[in-house]
This record gives sequence, C-alpha cells and structure tokens, in this order.
Amino acid sequence: MFGWFKARRRRRRWLVEPFPATWEAVLRRHVKQTSRLPQELAEKWRHRIQVFVRATTWEGCRDFVVTDEVKVIIASYATLLVLGLDDEWLERVWHVLVHPTPYRGRRASIGVDGVDYSHGDWMQQLDDDFEDEHLGEACVESGTVILVWSEVPTAEHITPGGQNVVLHELAHVLLDLFADRLRGERTKTGEPWFAAFDAEFERQVVASDRGRRTLLDEYAAESPEEFFCVATECFLERPDRMSSLMPTMYELLKVCYGIDPATWVSR
Ligand SMILES: [Zn+2]
Repeated sequence: MFGWFKARRRRRRWLVEPFPATWEAVLRRHVKQTSRLPQELAEKWRHRIQVFVRATTWEGCRDFVVTDEVKVIIASYATLLVLGLDDEWLERVWHVLVHPTPYRGRRASIGVDGVDYSHGDWMQQLDDDFEDEHLGEACVESGTVILVWSEVPTAEHITPGGQNVVLHELAHVLLDLFADRLRGERTKTGEPWFAAFDAEFERQVVASDRGRRTLLDEYAAESPEEFFCVATECFLERPDRMSSLMPTMYELLKVCYGIDPATWVSR
C-alpha cells in the first residue's frame, strides 16, 4: 500500500514538469497523430507520456540501446490509446523489453521483472511457436510487454499500413479490463456489445476463409482476441478507413477506448 502511495506521489510530481523540447521534436517527427490530436487531449497526452516513460522499467534485448527517442515514441502510442480511460491502466504495464528486430522463440533472457524468459513455462506454448518470428508479446500478470523496435511506426521505419505493434500488445493488456466492464454492464451495453463483436469476428473469419482482402491483416481471423487487437491497431492508425469500411467495429472500439480518432484532423 505504502509503495503505491509513494508511486502516486512521484507520478504527480512528474506531471508538473514541462514537456522536454527534445521529446516534442521526437513526437512531431515520428508520430503522425501528433498533428491530429484535438487540443483538449494534447496536454493530457504529453503528461501521460512523461509518466509512462519514467514509471516504466525499460530493457533493450540483443544489445539494443533504449534511447529517450525510443521510449518517447513507444510511450506516445501506449498513452494515445488510453486517452479516454482513467489512470488505472498505468498500473498494468511496468516493464517494456525492446528487441531491435523480430526474434525467434519467445525468450529474451532474464527480464527486468526477474522472470526467466529463456526457458520454462512462462507461457504454455506449442513447439512450433519457437520457430515463428515474434513481433511482440504481452504478459499481463507480470505487467511486461515485449516489442520489436523495427515494427514500431516511425519516420524511419517502413511498416505495413494500419499496423502498430505497440497498440496491438497494449490491447492484449487491456482486453480483460474491457471484458469485465462490459460484463458488469450486461443488459445495457454488455450483451449487445458482445453480440455485435461476435458477428464482426465471424465476418472476418468468413472473408479470410474465402481469401478476400480485408482492411485488417489476415492475422485478425486467428481468434477473437487477435481480432480485437488487430482492429485496435487500425482504430488509431487508419481511423477514417475503419469508420467507413467497418463502422460497427469502429463503434465497438469507441465504446471501449472512449475516443473517436476518426474525428481528429490534421492541423
Ligand atoms: Zn496478438
């Protein structure tokens, strides 16, 4: 309890420090949403970036150096996603591990959280999972998120349109929070939400089975969880296209995140 109060106090102090000019330059150069964000959210966003950068333990994997620029860009996406939520989400992510490029297997040696990622049953998995290239992972229980820097959208990275690994992994972290909330509001919002979501996922699976191109990456058909997370990427990376091509899914995400990025316009 005491630790929590101390952390809260420290966070409040960071909030009164001015946003560093070098960080501002990073946002303007690398994060396209910077020029679109409505004025009323801009200050809140910068405050939360400061808190996220400083309250998180950062670790570079495979000799990757996590610079301030890397931290600010990752923090900017992580906090952009939750601008419509209370501060509680902040308590859900404590450690961020950053790989320079996609990695095979899911282990990244001993994490800063003390978890041995090199072996063991940190997460149950199939053997062939080790052969896959990973772009990121989220371990909700330990508050750890693993990201691949080359897949994070910046002015220098060429990443597939509409995709953003930071948003994807954060969506995994937040998923059960939303599910609990929606279940709590069962009759009013919850039940219609889950029914509409199931129908949207079903459409994605059918389109995928028929080999049709869809707005979302084909990985969205993998499971309802992945569908939610892939859709979340698109919600902030291509809100215009999503609100016109997948209006129902767009509205469902709006309910969860409490923001309406399709209304944000370049200034
Ligand atoms: Zn995923």
